[in-house]
Amino acid sequence: MSKTPKFDLLIRNVRLEQNGPLVDLAINSERIAGIGSNLMCDAGDVFDGEGAFAFPGFVETHIHLDKAGILSRCSICEGTLGEAVRETAKAKAAFTEEDVYARAAKVVESAIVSGTTRLRTFVEVDPRAGLRSFAAIKRIREDYAFAIDIEICAFAQEGLTNERETYQLLETALGDGADLVGGAPYVDPDPEGHIAMIFDLAERFKVAVDFHLDFDLDPQHTDLPAVIRETEYRGYAGHVSIGHVTNISAMKPNDVRAVADKLRDAGIALTVLPATDMFLNGRAYDHLVPRGIAPAHVLSAHGVLTSIASNNILNPFTPYGDASLARMANFYANVAQLSRSEDLQNVFDMVSRSAAALLGKAYSVRVGGQADIVLLDCSGPEEAIRIVARPLAGWKRGRKSFEAPKARIFPEAVT
Ligand SMILES: [Zn+2]
Repeated sequence: MSKTPKFDLLIRNVRLEQNGPLVDLAINSERIAGIGSNLMCDAGDVFDGEGAFAFPGFVETHIHLDKAGILSRCSICEGTLGEAVRETAKAKAAFTEEDVYARAAKVVESAIVSGTTRLRTFVEVDPRAGLRSFAAIKRIREDYAFAIDIEICAFAQEGLTNERETYQLLETALGDGADLVGGAPYVDPDPEGHIAMIFDLAERFKVAVDFHLDFDLDPQHTDLPAVIRETEYRGYAGHVSIGHVTNISAMKPNDVRAVADKLRDAGIALTVLPATDMFLNGRAYDHLVPRGIAPAHVLSAHGVLTSIASNNILNPFTPYGDASLARMANFYANVAQLSRSEDLQNVFDMVSRSAAALLGKAYSVRVGGQADIVLLDCSGPEEAIRIVARPLAGWKRGRKSFEAPKARIFPEAVT
């Protein structure tokens, strides 16, 4: 007589692709042990997905947990990048470890219930913040590991060649648990020197680099050639990502294709931050205001690894936000005027599979794979983008991390 297999958890009736067949997922300890229709088994816990779409969760490639939620401490008059940097720098000097922890925890909890299972956060280390923000975000990384994998990018937001102390603080952070290093050459008086110093640190500590780059609408003003040169010189293809690059949005199609070829050949990935890019750009216009968002779908069609991310939440860079990548991807698709099924699937990939690839992480629902599973209230990735699908439940390494049951409507009075 054959014995019925026993699993820790069975998630029934979910789809793994748009309008795909309903399947069951069996989970043992931290792994997916079986995928099939009407799996016959005993399970410690059973969850009925009722036709929901199951995937490994959204992946946030670019967020600033340390400076989230400070809107009430800043004033926004111009709405420009320069003002955002200035106002945030002032507020940053007063950050305490507990203050950063409390604000970051709020954002991370929003990300978890929005279906995000992995994120990369930038953390500023410089003479204003010292290592206080870094210490807070390290605690966040540990305290929320039950639900989300967090990687920390030690980040120079306010220059490097002009602030040597920042270089030493980045060294300290990299020696004390930072996962990678990043810079913002556009604020440095010597952008090329800044880029070289960040690569020096990355090579020494054998970590990836992530730059904030070309954050304006002037295609002639670009630090991209220096990043490409250093990437090639140091053999860093596949370990470099750049965010914003909003000046690509001001290029003609042939020039966009030329940039795409260079990025693809150099092995550099690109992240667009739609909420910030649209809020801060085009302030000199009083009508027909440019959108200022790099065309990620065009770059992607030419072979560039691209992702869409939140960047900032409730601060002078982005005075909105809820850490929902379904919402951010929908926002991108709307601004980019995308409607075809394959285009929306591609946009979904930019907050899931491609985003994980940018972080160099494996990503799939497969037998033997890590049981990171999020259920969305929709029929698949395309619909997830169209309707900003609501997350219903999530598991991290086979353990339930959140549940957000469907809203109920009461047509008659409930007694
Ligand atoms: Zn950023």
